[in-house]
Amino acid sequence: MVIVLREGATEEDIEELVAILHEVGAEAHISRGEFRTVIGVIGDRERVMQMPFEAYAAVEKVVPIMKPYKLVSREFKDEPTVIRVGGAEIGGGTFTIIAGPCSVENEGQVVEAARAAKEAGATLFRGGAFKPRTSPYSFQGLGEDGLAMLARAREETGLPIVTEVLDVRDIEVVSRYADVLQVGARNMQNFLMLRDLGLQDKPVLLKRGMSSTVEEWLMAAEYILKEGNKGVILCERGIRTFETGTRNTLDISSVPTVKNYSHLPIIVDPSHATGVRELVAPLCKAALAAGADGVMVEMHPNPREALCDGPQSLTLEGFRTMMDELKGLADFLGKK
Ligand code: PEP
Ligand code: MN
Repeated sequence: MVIVLREGATEEDIEELVAILHEVGAEAHISRGEFRTVIGVIGDRERVMQMPFEAYAAVEKVVPIMKPYKLVSREFKDEPTVIRVGGAEIGGGTFTIIAGPCSVENEGQVVEAARAAKEAGATLFRGGAFKPRTSPYSFQGLGEDGLAMLARAREETGLPIVTEVLDVRDIEVVSRYADVLQVGARNMQNFLMLRDLGLQDKPVLLKRGMSSTVEEWLMAAEYILKEGNKGVILCERGIRTFETGTRNTLDISSVPTVKNYSHLPIIVDPSHATGVRELVAPLCKAALAAGADGVMVEMHPNPREALCDGPQSLTLEGFRTMMDELKGLADFLGKK
């Protein structure tokens, strides 16, 4: 449930309520809005609902949260969450572009891609050093050497780095280099990893599992927020359907659905959703029109030689062209 405080409630009022909640074994998550503070309460529902919170002068009302997810819900926090990392902003009226190759292959490749990404207007750079590959015989990524190359690309361009954490044992090393930790589709329900990511303070980009409902995805985000990390960016990357023309099927409807239910920012990854380079720009436009907070796309200085996901990677030139088109549409829609 959520305890909505009156305007003008003091810090002492908040502390008093938090102490009472702790006494009955409930967790209190405080969210300070521009005008009002709300306390999100997680605990034994029966016990908490019996408490006479409405009798306190500082309390305006007590609202039960009906959804299974609590901290990620709009009932808990109506104001959209804005995540700031380096000079980039995700959420809050900006359409943010994250671009880069599928995987880090060598320093020259990532630095060239990062420069092109920055010049064309991307504000974050992506690249995988730990790769979740379907086949154990495919390129698995360069590991920590790859992370160091991403750090070089950041030095060159100033773009913050988004990169995947494949295993709970790698959280420490990946956080030493990365600015945003990506959870891949295959790990969306790795609950122990989600919990540990919730205990550290870097933002987490949480991809939707390829067979997960929106509700399961929001429950996964709840695991992270529950531990204290409020910086979650959701990423729609396509789901499994009977369609074989594309790698997955982009569920564009998840964008407004998530916006209805959650305050968290949501971005779209049309590269992994389709696996087809030609479909990336049209679906970025669809994401922008549907109200997404940004996109993440794969681009490569030489897609034909890419060690991973070449067929869906834009060329640097293709990326620039797409960015020009997106700028026109963003202006029209009043997005930055
Ligand atoms: C990726 O972004 O590099 C990736 C592997 O994506 P996904 O987890 O969505 O398949
Ligand atoms: Mn990829």
